[in-house]
Parts: sequence; C-alpha cells; structure tokens
Amino acid sequence: MFDFSNRKIYCIITDRKKGIKMISKPKGTVDLTDKLARTWKYVEEVIDSCMEKYNYNYIRTPIFESTELFHRGIGDSTDIVTKETYDFKDRGDRSITLRPEGTAGVVRSYIENKMYGTHNLPVKVYYNGTMYRYERPGKGRYRELSQYGVEVMGSSDPMMDAEVISLAYNINKMLGLTDTVVHINSLGDKESRDKYREALKEYFKPHLDDLCDDCKERFVKNPLRIIDCKVDSNKDYFKDAPNILDYLNVESKEHFDKVCEYLDLLEVKYEIDPKIVRGLDYYNHTVFELCTLNNNLALGGGGRYNNLVSMLGGPKTPCVGYAVGLDRLVDEIISRDIDNVRDDIDAFIMYVNEDEKKNAIYLANELRMSGFVVETEYTKRSLKSQFKRADYFNSKYLILLNSDDLNEGLITIKNNKTKEEEKIMMEYIIYYFDEHISDDNLSIEADFHNHEEGCDCDE
Ligand code: AMP
Repeated sequence: MFDFSNRKIYCIITDRKKGIKMISKPKGTVDLTDKLARTWKYVEEVIDSCMEKYNYNYIRTPIFESTELFHRGIGDSTDIVTKETYDFKDRGDRSITLRPEGTAGVVRSYIENKMYGTHNLPVKVYYNGTMYRYERPGKGRYRELSQYGVEVMGSSDPMMDAEVISLAYNINKMLGLTDTVVHINSLGDKESRDKYREALKEYFKPHLDDLCDDCKERFVKNPLRIIDCKVDSNKDYFKDAPNILDYLNVESKEHFDKVCEYLDLLEVKYEIDPKIVRGLDYYNHTVFELCTLNNNLALGGGGRYNNLVSMLGGPKTPCVGYAVGLDRLVDEIISRDIDNVRDDIDAFIMYVNEDEKKNAIYLANELRMSGFVVETEYTKRSLKSQFKRADYFNSKYLILLNSDDLNEGLITIKNNKTKEEEKIMMEYIIYYFDEHISDDNLSIEADFHNHEEGCDCDE
C-alpha cells in the first residue's frame, strides 16, 4: 500500500556534499513509477475498453480554463471554488484557473462546439486527466489529483442515470473491486429542493450558534450542504434533521423510483443514503457516491445536473455524469493485490562481445516486433550480472549468445524456471517462442478478458 501521507516532503533539499540543490516535487503531488505506474496503466486500459463497449467517446479539454467558468459552473458557495482553486493571471492579464474538476470544462466544450446541434443526443463522453485543488494533502488527498469521468448530455430519462451509475459500478467490478456499493440519493427538482431548503433552515435555526463557521455560511447560501458537513454532522440533533426523500414531489419521486428499479435490473448493489448531497451546487435529482467496504473515502461520485448547460450559456439540456479518483482507485487495487499487471518479461538476451551484441540487437528487435517482451544488456555487464538482471525482470527465458555457436547459426535458450537448456537455429526463434510462450501470454489475455466480461471468479 502506498502511504504518501507519512512522507516528509521538502521543496528544496541541499546536497551538502556537492553543494547542488536537489528539487523535490511540490507538496500534494505524486510521481507514478514502477508498480504504481504499471497498475495505473492497467486501470486506464480497463476503463478505455469498458467505455468503448458502452459507446462513450473520449474527450480532452484544457487543463486550464477561464476562472469564471468554475465560479459560474461549480458555484460560489462550494469549498472547491472558494478555497481550493489554483488561480493566476496569465501574461495577457486574463484570470485563469487550473481545473479542479472535469464537468465544467466538458460542458463548456459541449456548448462552444455546438454539440447539441451537430451530434445525435444524448452525447456520451468520458475523460481522464489531472485536476488541481489546494487541499491539505493526506492519504488519498492530493493537490494534483487524477480523475476519470463520464458526462452524458441530452437525456433526462432515469435509464440514463442508471446506465451511468452501472458503468461506474461495472468498471470497479472488472477491476476486481467486487465489494463496491453505490450510495444513492435524490435531491429532487427545484420545487422539491426549495421546500426542503426551507425545512432545513427552520430545523437548524435554533442550532445556528452551535454550527461551525462553514455551516453558518452554508445556512445562508446552501443549507443542503450542512447535511454532509465533516465537522458538524455527528452532532446529536443531526439525527432528526429533515430527510430530503420526504420532500420529493411526485415527479421527482417517480424519477428516483425508476432509477432504483433499473439499478435492480442491472444488479447494481446500492444503498439509499439521504445524507449524500454532494459538494457541488449544480446537482439535482439523482446523486451518488461509489464506495467499497474497506475504504471510508469515496472512490467517486456524481449525479444529474439539468441546469448547468443553461447556466453556462447553452440550451436547456439535462445531463448526468460522475468522476472517480484514479489515485484512490489505483491505491485500492494495489492494496488488495488484485491487479492483472504483467510482472515478468518473455526473454533476456545475454552476450559479451561486439559480434554477439549485434546479434542481440537484431534478435531483440525481431522478437519485439513479433509481440514478445524482450530485454537485453546495455552497459557491458559481466555474464554473472546479466543473469542477475534477467532475474530482476523475472525473465521466463534466457537467450545466451556466444560467437562459436553463432558462427554455426545456433543460439542457446534456457528456461529460467526449469533451468533446462537447448540449442536451436537462430532463425527458428520466433517459432520456438510462438510454441513455448504465446500460449502463456494468451492465457494471461484470456484471464483479462474474462475479467472484462464481468466474470465473478473473485466473488
Ligand atoms: P469530487 O469531484 O469532489 O466529487 O471527487 C470525486 C472523486 O475524486 C473522489 O471520490 C475522490 O476519489 C477523488 N478526489 C477528490 N478530491 C481528491 C483529492 N484531493 N485527492 C485525490 N483524489 C480526490
């Protein structure tokens, strides 16, 4: 498990010996290397492949946008916008913000590119990229974070909410997180929410002095957010606070019931949780969070946002979407050791002299172009050290080149597990590996595809 929270992060460390300053990564950022990087790529592959099956198109929007987009889009009463954005003026004196989330940019792009006119609705897209929030860094909480997310624009059907939720749920399942549970709630439409807001204000008014400073502000600007306050929500009187589900009008209730009915049909495990209100101002109707049993931090969340497109200057367009934090998702997968990441190579080619080296370069190229994972020597190590390096890469086979054999067109192949050796004609190497290795690789791929098809073998 990668626990970044305990690491001391220094911005600049002086290497006294050399007197040269070493530069460390900024606070709240992460280097992806080794297993973390490989698992990350694997997770991205599963996401991409799943999106293809659900027919969601990849979209990439800028990492920085006009500051106003987030103020108007996410809302002035949210922590993200009031406390956490990275804002700066560019050299042309424009107010720029590093995106703290993906939805506002996607919606801006939908409007700016007039997708509502040129595409068949609904438009279904997904993104994957870095976001920036000036938060207090800790475990699962970074300042540069990565999210993958989907946005669907142009359908108000509860079936769409259910597809989006089940997509998030199924990706988790395919990644082996079979204990994923969706916590779901409805914020209803404007009429329902207005009524609920009044009820909340009425209820919390006598407790106003006791609420934290943020909640005092929320009481005025967005009382719904008092419900999920990290500081206050354990207080006794929160238990009897009004429940949003009691305030849904007929239409909103019908929408929510339908979403739940479709989720049952799609066999998504979910729990109705009236405490979920989500941090952003733009949600209405369905809101949800993606949780696993052994993690108290949500992996992701989202919901319906029917007013954002018009708030940003586009035509009235009902939307639904979600975002999942890749940092937390990958951490969770690594901690359970359930990744499907290859941790070996097919062959390591060993040599000592220049003549052998040319053959090594040639062979490595031929094998790689035929689909095998091959490594060789680059730094004039002794043969003994090359054996060690081959073990470091868990090489299945060793290919030993020596000039005498090469003169006769022969190479030695050693099975690194059984230690059996045999000499074969160099020109037959691809056939040899096709016969001996391709089957293994195919079975790895088959495992992967079984996983992809939703095989419940882990359950
Ligand atoms: P949000 O956009 O706040 O709804 O967050 C969606 C998901 O993004 C969360 O459930 C987390 O997995 C992830 N996330 C949000 N903020 C952070 C952060 N500061 N560091 C790492 N992941 C984050």
